[in-house]
Amino acid sequence: MEIRDIIIIGAGPVGLFTVFEAGLLGLNCTLIDNLDKPGGQCAELYPEKPIYDIPGVPFQTAQEHVDALLKQIKPFEYDLYLNQRVDSLNEIEVDGEVYWEVITTENNTFKSKNIFIAAGGGSFEPRKPPNIDNPDKYINKGVSYAVRSVEQYKDKNIYIFGGGDSALDWTVELSKIAKSVSLVHRRDAFRGSQHTEELMRELVRNGDVKLLTPYLIDSIEGKEKIEKVKLKNFESNDIEEYEADELIFLFGLNKKLGPLLEWELELNSKKIVVNTQNFETNKKGIFAVGDINDYPGKMDLILSGFHETTLAVQEAYKRINPGERVPFGYTTSNSKLQEKLGVKK
Ligand SMILES: Cc1cc2nc3c(=O)[nH]c(=O)nc-3n(C[C@H](O)[C@H](O)[C@H](O)COP(=O)(O)OP(=O)(O)OC[C@H]3O[C@@H](n4cnc5c(N)ncnc54)[C@H](O)[C@@H]3O)c2cc1C
Repeated sequence: MEIRDIIIIGAGPVGLFTVFEAGLLGLNCTLIDNLDKPGGQCAELYPEKPIYDIPGVPFQTAQEHVDALLKQIKPFEYDLYLNQRVDSLNEIEVDGEVYWEVITTENNTFKSKNIFIAAGGGSFEPRKPPNIDNPDKYINKGVSYAVRSVEQYKDKNIYIFGGGDSALDWTVELSKIAKSVSLVHRRDAFRGSQHTEELMRELVRNGDVKLLTPYLIDSIEGKEKIEKVKLKNFESNDIEEYEADELIFLFGLNKKLGPLLEWELELNSKKIVVNTQNFETNKKGIFAVGDINDYPGKMDLILSGFHETTLAVQEAYKRINPGERVPFGYTTSNSKLQEKLGVKK
């Protein structure tokens, strides 16, 4: 496994901007995120809300902000690993030198002298149906908490659970390829976009989607894989049984600090304590930037994270190039960057 200059845990806005600052100093990065897309809270929690306090940008939706950051880091060398949580962080020795090794839930291993924890409030984990005992035993056998590959649902009997945007979006989308789609929700009111709800209701009127409200899952049946699902009607209290191939639970996400708590980092109320000179933690080479860190006067704002990671990257450079002065230059006169961007001088 190649040794990277910086490994970034979390591809939220601060993780993404770290790639930019590292790139300016010629450092490469590996970004890892538990979500299926970059952008952290901006992309997952409020993509369409406007942000007004990014300096020099009077108005940008959160998704536009993420898209702009992705464009900004395009010239630089980084790779992005999604759908996997960093679970362990260990100190190792390579050729007599000390490195950090991270291992993800997909069993990918990465090594670097510098780990940037840009984990926000923790990794986003799907909420599971509370009344079903160990639904995870059916993972890859008919239960999922996100749609990773549309192909998986072709010609299947699908039950989608939830009342937000994801449930509505996937009901509409999967109705194009599934054998049948049923949308199950505890009440006949949805929290998603009005437009998508209208599309869903039109599909119901045309008989392309079955809407089951007010219903709740009661139990899952099947040995090797899911065969049937039992649903409880809230009004009549009747239990109804349906043949099912795929159950998709889209109940939103919880933030979990999880593995971070076990890495022997100094914490203050579930945040990682850092110094404000270079945002290093109590462990050399492990930095915490963005919402995850804590120091006197800390504010959970995107611009604070940008400042923090800019200084932390300077220290990361020094760790890779001991004794060297960190090159400083304004981007306005960075000819290499302008070349990469194709900007004329
Ligand atoms: C509704 C709302 C509105 C907001 N409005 C504004 C605003 O107007 N202006 C502003 O400045 N800020 C705003 N914020 C706050 C802003 O979104 C956060 O400050 C910012 O997202 C922090 O960025 P981050 O990169 O530190 O963390 P996050 O955006 O939280 O990203 C962290 C990422 O790390 C991943 N992660 C965590 N642990 C692991 C792990 N072990 N393995 C792999 N991945 C992991 C998570 O999945 C997540 O994607 C708002 C927040 C909300 C909820």
